[in-house]
Amino acid sequence: MNDKTLAILKPDCLERNLTGIAIDFILNKGFKIKAMKMLHMSKADAERFYAVHKGKPFYDELLEYMSSGPCIPMVLEKENAVEAFREAIGTTDPRKAAENTLRRLYAKNMQRNTVHGSDSEENAQKEIAFFFPLKEIMLY
Ligand code: UDP
Ligand code: MG
Repeated sequence: MNDKTLAILKPDCLERNLTGIAIDFILNKGFKIKAMKMLHMSKADAERFYAVHKGKPFYDELLEYMSSGPCIPMVLEKENAVEAFREAIGTTDPRKAAENTLRRLYAKNMQRNTVHGSDSEENAQKEIAFFFPLKEIMLY
């Protein structure tokens, strides 16, 4: 069983000074932060990270948005982390997200939805490796 997932506090989260609130929300849900950094994705970075969405109508704007400012990727650990984190953040469209999910509480809209969470264990492993070499993932 994989107990890790990749989260990203997206540019709108940092821009609106919600970083502390988002981290607090995540910790209060019982996730342990095993790695974290701040970086500004280039368009090429975003293109690689979101390669699965290439060709979709929202793809070009997604790349613009994700490279528009800094973001905070993190590795989170909890039992059944991928599913648990998706549940904690809510659906892609914040208006449809369940009550008290991170997106429902704080996201602006379908694109600027404040946070990313891996959607499968396989993708979690790939996405963690995209941002973090093994030595940057803490053992504690
Ligand atoms: N997105 C968008 N419009 C859409 C669908 C997605 O702008 O109609 C953006 C949004 O930021 C979303 C990201 O593209 O989080 C990736 O889409 P995905 O379907 O993977 O949603 P997620 O897994 O993030 O809920
Ligand atoms: Mg996704």
